[in-house]
Amino acid sequence: MLDQLATTPPAELEEIIVPTSSRPSFVDGCGRTINYLRLSVTDRCDLRCRYCMPLRPTFLPKRDLLSLEELYRLARLFVVHGIEKIRITGGEPLVRKNLMHLLHRLGDLISPREEAGHLRDLTLTTNGTHLTQFAEELFACGIRRVNVSLDSLDATTFADLTRGGSLPVVSEGIDAALAAGLAVKINCVALKGVNVSPEEVDRLLRWCGEKGCDLTYIEVMPMGDIGNEKRLDQFYPLTELKGSIDKRWALKRSSYHSGGPARYWDCVETGRRIGFISPLTENFCDGCTRVRVTCTGMLYPCLGQESGSDLRDALRDHPDNDEPCSKVIAARVAKKTRGHAFVIDRDSGAALGRTMNTTGG
Ligand code: SAM
Ligand code: SF4
Repeated sequence: MLDQLATTPPAELEEIIVPTSSRPSFVDGCGRTINYLRLSVTDRCDLRCRYCMPLRPTFLPKRDLLSLEELYRLARLFVVHGIEKIRITGGEPLVRKNLMHLLHRLGDLISPREEAGHLRDLTLTTNGTHLTQFAEELFACGIRRVNVSLDSLDATTFADLTRGGSLPVVSEGIDAALAAGLAVKINCVALKGVNVSPEEVDRLLRWCGEKGCDLTYIEVMPMGDIGNEKRLDQFYPLTELKGSIDKRWALKRSSYHSGGPARYWDCVETGRRIGFISPLTENFCDGCTRVRVTCTGMLYPCLGQESGSDLRDALRDHPDNDEPCSKVIAARVAKKTRGHAFVIDRDSGAALGRTMNTTGG
């Protein structure tokens, strides 16, 4: 079955993609070498976060999704072209059937050696609902860090903003991840009037300190139709949040850089890092060396731009030859611009047609 990647990839797949350290890297129009891939494995999810998707989303037909073999082939193609870090995302990646088969194979590409054609870091972003089940296997796949979304430590608020999520389940999942040896970073989308009061923020900061987790706040981004919810009602500028935290906590600028858009501070009191991803109030794009591939194989060099390239056709039309796909990637990456232009539309509240779960957050 296409979607049941065997633990060992088929021999013909090995022949298709032979890693060579001489393959050129993908370089964008500003001269930045692309070394970070965010790969979405599904648009489906077991939660319905109000800022991410409508209550009754229309999910993509299954045939449109890349199979696990195609995801693996694509990931490996990126790796032989210099991608060092892959983050698996979605939708909720842990609801994708047989995902562990793919992760074990990707884990086999990890090597600490400082040479081209090897993956150094395989990570995952999850809502945490299935971590209790999968934490140990994620570690066995070579994953050492996961990002878990947790927007509130108040069970009622959490259930309301995820439209049905259970805080105890996610909290148990985080404990299971930590017990399995995974470092956990908490992602929290700042939502006006929901989770940005000093009490809520301090509670999360303290909790992260006690658990030993770093924390990143994210500004709500204008992605796609989210039903009756209004972006402008949700949006809370992180400049304001940071200013408020500064009054109560000692934050020192950190030199840490994740390859992503967050800017980090060390919180003196908790000993943990706190990051801010603020695409609307601050331009975070300068050092961006990453690209995204959606679960249908659309390559987007930037989260904030509409234009992408379809890799699925290049893969399916040339099952024995990766060069056409490489060419499509190189051409699209060359068009990656220095920055994005997110603006929240006053009427619709959206700036981009696609939602975060289809793009891969
Ligand atoms: N389901 C997983 C999760 O929630 O972590 C992974 C996919 S989710 C789309 C990835 C990240 O994007 C999460 O941290 C989520 O909070 C964030 N996100 C989703 N929609 C967003 C939006 N409109 N603006 C900002 N962040 C968003
Ligand atoms: Fe699901 Fe993640 Fe979107 Fe929430 S943010 S609805 S958990 S994909």
